[in-house]
Amino acid sequence: MNFNEVNLSNPILRALEELKFEKPSVIQEKTIPVVLEGKDVLGCAQTGSGKTAAFSLPILEKLSKEKSKNIRALILTPTRELAVQITQSIESYAKYLSLRIGTVYGGIDQKYQVDMLKKGVDILVATPGRLVDLWDQELISLCKVEMFVLDEADRMLDMGFLDSIKLIAKQLPVKRQNLLFSATMPKEIERFAMSMLKDPVSIKQARVTDTVSTISQSVYYIDEPNKLLLLVQLIKAGDVKNAIVFTNTKRSADKVMKHLHQAAVRVRAIHGDKAQRARQDALLQFKNGKIKVLVATDVAARGIDVAKLSHVFNFDIPESPDNYIHRIGRTGRAGETGTAINFCNIDDVDNLKAIERHIRKRMTVVESEWPMKILEKKEKPQGRRGSGQAGRNGKSAEWGKTTDAPRRDRAARKEKDPIDITKVKDVTPSGKPVVKKKYTPFKPSSKSESGKDKTDSRRDKKDGRRDFKKDSSYGKKKKAVTGKAKY
Ligand code: ADP
Ligand code: MG
Repeated sequence: MNFNEVNLSNPILRALEELKFEKPSVIQEKTIPVVLEGKDVLGCAQTGSGKTAAFSLPILEKLSKEKSKNIRALILTPTRELAVQITQSIESYAKYLSLRIGTVYGGIDQKYQVDMLKKGVDILVATPGRLVDLWDQELISLCKVEMFVLDEADRMLDMGFLDSIKLIAKQLPVKRQNLLFSATMPKEIERFAMSMLKDPVSIKQARVTDTVSTISQSVYYIDEPNKLLLLVQLIKAGDVKNAIVFTNTKRSADKVMKHLHQAAVRVRAIHGDKAQRARQDALLQFKNGKIKVLVATDVAARGIDVAKLSHVFNFDIPESPDNYIHRIGRTGRAGETGTAINFCNIDDVDNLKAIERHIRKRMTVVESEWPMKILEKKEKPQGRRGSGQAGRNGKSAEWGKTTDAPRRDRAARKEKDPIDITKVKDVTPSGKPVVKKKYTPFKPSSKSESGKDKTDSRRDKKDGRRDFKKDSSYGKKKKAVTGKAKY
């Protein structure tokens, strides 16, 4: 199918031609006609499958038919960077139309945004927090909105935006078209979607837990203190053209950035403690290829589109499998290939296994010159109980803390599906002999070994983020989530 078969008019087709969009992607092919018909949509497709154009193109088509000075389409996104990116994409599709597109998001002075709103826009892309702020001040009118889009809806709920979204939805005319998009569709979202959407057409492409098949995924089992050494080694190796390195906390992001900087890598970091301008600058420099590595917390996990991103590193394994899908989905976009590399320390093994179960894929295990301590010890099992355990199921005898653990703990450990040692040993990196270094024990500081920052307590009031305690999807996690915004 071509774009001209989905009923888009010439100015849009011309812009798409210039952007070298030859054919609609599957989600675009399915969504565009349904939106043009005026129906509500519950859209769910993999990362990088072209959801932005799937909802924007029919919006442009419909709105271009008449002129007005009102906000007729409202698009909500979870992060400021994503709001900017979506605006830029829509502007590029609308190059030959006379529609005005505006953006409002927190972290910067509202003055410019207020001026822009006064002049009038047809399409507004917004983060919920700033939008509610402006509405509170009676600086924005939403009563003429005909089309309402929630992009990355699950993330917005995760970030505690549900009340803001409900408040915003109340200000909109009852008769409107709703489009809800997400690459993952947890139960809460389905419930929320059912309450907001009217008789929606559900458009699903692939299983939502699928990671994109063009992304190769591998894991290094490595002790926390060696992760930085391995990261520098891999980033300096030839095949990393550019990379996003994800960490779980702002503090970990800063540490990784500093280390890469010292190793003469062109790098910047992006997380919730950085000023909005610095966040925007870093992203722009990364997109323009001026820096090779962007170190980021999950603020950059959603929606961010960097053309031809070669690598994603999970320096810390994410606590939620859905976040894993989104993080690695920054690469392998629009049918390109990509590489996702995970660093898994002993504390992260359960999370990694949960991810593998969720995506129904086993990652290739790669051995570095810094093998995990527990694996080295495994080669020389100590003690009767230890070797017995290992002999029975080929798994680590030292899973957990001591070989003298009570029986019920051993049973529990067995259930945890520990690292498959045999597999680890089978893999040798590209024929080269692996130089095995003796493991040097790490002396943890008073902070937690995983580098998690228990002191990060700032929350982004401007964007209306609330306590993570209230966030069910975080609350359920086994690992301690302190109830504070960590990224
Ligand atoms: P998603 O929101 O599904 O994760 P995006 O909408 O950000 O994905 O699109 C991913 C990338 O694919 C973007 O760089 C976009 O420009 C590109 N893209 C989208 N649609 C097409 C198309 N029909 N042909 C070529 N490239 C496309
Ligand atoms: Mg998107």
